[in-house]
Amino acid sequence: MKLFTVGPVEMYPESLELGGKQDPYFRTQAFSDMMLGIERKFLKSVNAPQGSRFAALTMSGTGAMEAAVSSVFTQEDKVLVIDGGSFGHRFAQICEIHRIPYQTIHLNFLQEFTADMLAPFENQGFTGLLVNYCETSTGQSYDLNILGNFCHRNGMYLIVDAVSAYLADSLDMQQQNVDLILTASQKALALAPGLSLVAASPRVTEERILKNRPNTLYLNLAGYFENQKRGQPPFTSAVSIVRMLAQRLDVIEQSGMRAVVAQHHKRAVYFRTKARQLGIMMPCYRLSNCCTPLIFPKGNAKQIYQYLSEKYGLVVTPSGGAQAEKELRVGHLGNLQLSDYDILIDRMKEIL
Ligand SMILES: *Cc1c(COP(=O)(O)O)cnc(C)c1O
Repeated sequence: MKLFTVGPVEMYPESLELGGKQDPYFRTQAFSDMMLGIERKFLKSVNAPQGSRFAALTMSGTGAMEAAVSSVFTQEDKVLVIDGGSFGHRFAQICEIHRIPYQTIHLNFLQEFTADMLAPFENQGFTGLLVNYCETSTGQSYDLNILGNFCHRNGMYLIVDAVSAYLADSLDMQQQNVDLILTASQKALALAPGLSLVAASPRVTEERILKNRPNTLYLNLAGYFENQKRGQPPFTSAVSIVRMLAQRLDVIEQSGMRAVVAQHHKRAVYFRTKARQLGIMMPCYRLSNCCTPLIFPKGNAKQIYQYLSEKYGLVVTPSGGAQAEKELRVGHLGNLQLSDYDILIDRMKEIL
């Protein structure tokens, strides 16, 4: 079997080996040292501003989205959400549940986000913007420079869900004016699901996270930041994923973020060129390196998915909802080689 999915993805042999080992007890100095090393490497990888805070949460990416929103915003805020697919929609749902006033910029299927869509929200008293850097359900990558400048002009906090974009697309908290970024273990980090990572700027930490009193214990980032000072989680951590993460971040630090992003870009471009040669359609908006959405106007997407997985064990990512018959996504995350795409393309030819 070979996964061309967006999470979980093909894992690296080193991670699989670590996953088979006995977990140590974690209230120890050795575990704290590992966590502090992870903090340093993660904050560096996103170029977090000096004094930024880090948390490792034992929950999937949605937990980190909810932790971020409920720790940063209150009912006194007014938040803008880019709702361009199922993950953007999830941010809106979280605001709804936590009674945080919000408005959305809604995008239709295949519609591109453009800077002029922000104009009606300029100087309207918004205090924050919630965005998925890559909206994984559509593969669209929003321009963080545009969003960062907008937030800066309007004195808003920029909260970025980079669950699928971290490592795949270039991300720089300082340059792009990001206040909080979150990601999760099962996407480009290519680890088992269950651990999420958060980096928060000193500004949002001091002005919001350490001051607010959200109605939640497990999702309150303040508790995680406080304990992380000594490298400990407030609750039992997903210890085995933490061990795998320490190893992955070592590898990433050694190769450098630029090279890691370039590797994802190379895979994406390689696959897209070949898929276009087959006459397969793709959306016209800015695509993330995380995955490539393929459009099948004849409505045979599901049939192609089944053929590839049942006959060859090649698992691409089906789309949900209204797009299920028309769209498939091919992932570029995890332990994949260019030659894997050659095989996938050859097999796809058989059924197009
Ligand atoms: C995968 C993903 C998440 C998290 O989903 P979980 O199923 O909770 O891990 C959040 N946002 C984006 C953009 C994602 O791709």
